[in-house]
Amino acid sequence: MTPFGTIIQLIYLAGAASFVIGLHLMNTPATARQGNFVSGCGMAAAVAATLALIIHDGTVSVTGWIVLCAGALMGAGVGLYSARTIQMTAMPQLVSIFNAVGGGAAALVGIHDYSGLVGAVHGVPESTTITTLLDVIIGAVTFSGSIIAAGKLQGVIPGQPIAFPGSRLVNAAIAVVAVGMSAFLISTANIAGLVVVIIAALAFGVTMVLPIGGADMPVVISLLNAFTGTAVAMAGFVIGNDALIIAGALVGASGGILTKLMADAMNRSLANIIVGGFGTGDSAVSAVAVGGEGVRSISGDDAAIQLAYAARVIIVPGYGLAAAQAQHEVAELAGLLEARGVDVSYAIHPVAGRMPGHMNVLLAEANVPYPQLKEMEEINPEFSRADVALVIGANDVTNPAARRPGTAISGMPILDVDQAKSIIVIKRSMGHGYAGIDNELYTNAKTSMYFADAKTALAELTAAVKVYVG
Ligand code: NDP
Repeated sequence: MTPFGTIIQLIYLAGAASFVIGLHLMNTPATARQGNFVSGCGMAAAVAATLALIIHDGTVSVTGWIVLCAGALMGAGVGLYSARTIQMTAMPQLVSIFNAVGGGAAALVGIHDYSGLVGAVHGVPESTTITTLLDVIIGAVTFSGSIIAAGKLQGVIPGQPIAFPGSRLVNAAIAVVAVGMSAFLISTANIAGLVVVIIAALAFGVTMVLPIGGADMPVVISLLNAFTGTAVAMAGFVIGNDALIIAGALVGASGGILTKLMADAMNRSLANIIVGGFGTGDSAVSAVAVGGEGVRSISGDDAAIQLAYAARVIIVPGYGLAAAQAQHEVAELAGLLEARGVDVSYAIHPVAGRMPGHMNVLLAEANVPYPQLKEMEEINPEFSRADVALVIGANDVTNPAARRPGTAISGMPILDVDQAKSIIVIKRSMGHGYAGIDNELYTNAKTSMYFADAKTALAELTAAVKVYVG
């Protein structure tokens, strides 16, 4: 290897090390920003090294440079703009779109490389064909699947599982076409066959994601994220770029682990999620109405007094808090209570919100101190010692029905909110959460319902705490 080549490889190695260090730092919210920065620096170094390599080799034409620069500028511009302006509640859709472009770009690398090799004098080596096909298939499935997932999350496509009679058979047929044609291409390289594989993979992405319900979508996004990484790693093999292989493998592995953790937190297998039909995104009104039997309403003033005179309050934030963007209001109320000597902590369910880590990020944005955020295993034994559990826009993750067999959420680990001495629930109605079932917590004798939008309710509570108890 030339000295120049050695320097490039060393930069790739340093880049890879910074990805690993960055991932490690992302383990805790306290160092997550640093982790993002370190990984970003590693990626910038790898991109710079690759540019230096192609300048050195002189393999890119003038037109190629124009396309490359225009693409990089456009991509960076759109990426920067969308990441800066996106609402936290729309983050899953953005992640999904990023997955789509990642998978699509990886597939294009494979397609371009393959089309250059077809017709080569010595044919296409088997190893190249296999990695190219894996790259193209996984990349194309990720591309179309992620676009459907983003559409469902955005509400452009209905969130309910969309399936038609025999849809599984159609899926299987598409998969057989993709695999069969791929096997043929290994012995006989040709572009027409590759086009068939691409179309089959794109169709498979669509038919795989359409039947998956809204509540399962974050798990699917995480799975597609793992696919993106794997496709990128394959693209790295295709063009012989070590940095791409390592970065892709890290995304693939961490996405895979996250998918498993999320599936575990919902007590479901991945296979069950993919072929499931759970999680319809049903927001239909509950069988128990506002003011119905067993439902006790509470006014803002009464809730404020309960909170202000409690020794211990556990706040349970859910999707409704994220949807209402009420993170600053809850932080202000908690600060006020703390100033009065109330011991306040937050109970964070692993799937509270609509994507993993959603709650931690939202609350960090409002400067909630990290030590106040408690994971489910840590906080559950504490509920019985809490004077008030304040549930804000959380539904499924607090539903005791999960402890019984035969319900849509049976077996899902929940926060033991019903163990608290008193429970106040802020939500707008008796409407369902994502699982589409009634919440038994709401008719518990210890529970008082405060029917309001989370942001408005929290602002009212804060004002009332100030007025009534100073
Ligand atoms: P849920 O979806 O169960 O419930 C949210 C509740 O918030 C609704 O019942 C709604 O009631 C209320 N709400 C909505 N908007 C507002 C508002 N503006 N103000 C006040 N309340 C509001 O949320 P959870 O957080 O309890 O559970 C998350 C769900 O998402 C679970 O089913 C989980 O399995 C699923 N999920 C999450 C994943 C993740 O990674 N985070 C992954 C996969 C699934 P109302 O309309 O009456 O106000």
